[in-house]
Amino acid sequence: MKAEILALGSELLTPLRQDTNALWLTDRLLEIGIETVARQTIADDRDALVRGFRVALQRADVVIATGGLGPTEDDLTREAAAEAAGRGLRRDEAYVEFLRDRFAGFGRVMPEVNAKQGDVIEGGTLVKNPRGTAPAQWVELDGRLLFLLPGPPHEMKPLFEGEFLPLLRARAGQRVVKTRVLRIAGMGESDVEQKAAPVYTRFANPRTTILGAAGQVELHLVAEAADDAAAEALIESLAAPLREALPGRIYSEDGRELPAVVADLLAERGLKLAVAESCTAGMLCAALSDAPGASRFLERGFVTYSNAAKVDELGVDAALIEARGAVSEEVARAMARGALRVAGADLGVAVTGVAGPDGGSADKPVGSVHLAIAGALGEHHRLARFPGDRSRVRTQSVRLALELLRRALLGLSQG
Ligand code: ATP
Repeated sequence: MKAEILALGSELLTPLRQDTNALWLTDRLLEIGIETVARQTIADDRDALVRGFRVALQRADVVIATGGLGPTEDDLTREAAAEAAGRGLRRDEAYVEFLRDRFAGFGRVMPEVNAKQGDVIEGGTLVKNPRGTAPAQWVELDGRLLFLLPGPPHEMKPLFEGEFLPLLRARAGQRVVKTRVLRIAGMGESDVEQKAAPVYTRFANPRTTILGAAGQVELHLVAEAADDAAAEALIESLAAPLREALPGRIYSEDGRELPAVVADLLAERGLKLAVAESCTAGMLCAALSDAPGASRFLERGFVTYSNAAKVDELGVDAALIEARGAVSEEVARAMARGALRVAGADLGVAVTGVAGPDGGSADKPVGSVHLAIAGALGEHHRLARFPGDRSRVRTQSVRLALELLRRALLGLSQG
């Protein structure tokens, strides 16, 4: 079954409010094997709403709309959905009475405008909303299912999970969808694609999506099967050859991010780390301390932005900086050794580079970053030339430093 989700409300087309309902619904649907194939965000405009519902009802088996079920003039979801479905609206007087009683319970008289919240599409069913006045409703239209839900997420979610998900699960049959994310750092998206595509294109199930971010690539493997075990087996049948195609490159398959993977490796090996940063100014240290329990391995961090700081805090030779420049292999190595020595740690890691937008030169363009590791796992160095703006250069520097640490900790080549 294919689903389409409609987020209704003019405020969702402004920067003031974001549609979070659709993503949440997409996730819930995927768990029961229903794929979302389209999404619309529509203003409180009757014609636009009718057109939106018509299109959705033509191309999806399941249409889920949230918002616009309130009592006011601009709450047009019921009317528009009914028109698109070619059906009338019937007033559920029992619901209106229930609403009247609820208002009375709060010592209030129900405003007459609220009566239209009892309107239900012919053939449809209203579902009471314990957290608000707008009930949900659903209707079957020539084998297609249409669901209308209130907009506020805290009203929509329990209604969907409690009332509509079981119904959809029964219709979708016993299918489960499982996703595994394979994460890779220190390789570009196209390099990963070149190695992985010949493998994953042989599989229709699991389906694979490749997602690139600064300094990181993810392969999302999505399998559909009759039960969890069968879905896991399908995923493993693809993950195994992918591991072979990308030897030592996949740092996580269990949802962990790179800092957590490196943190766990450091803690397991009982190694204390000292971090010396120039262009990342503490970002590497912050990433490593994100996970709880960082005190197991994180000894000290040095933010040595100026040349004087590199000399004073890390004991880097001023003459070396003068001769080679602060962004150089020699200074990166000296920073890593200095951090190691001053902190009395087992490992030192250092980052020095040109994050931009200024400070680049012909032989050291913006994006040039030297990374070094010193100590118990031997000395390692890498020069990277990162594309992108200052923020991307810094993010990529942190990810590559972590990847170099991971490779050193696992005894993998630094190539
Ligand atoms: P109620 O009458 O119970 O408020 P409603 O269906 O009329 O229900 P709307 O008036 O459309 O709901 O929306 C109310 C609020 O719900 C919005 O201001 C917004 O904060 C939130 N909301 C609506 N749609 C979404 C969405 N797609 N994602 C996240 N929040 C939403």
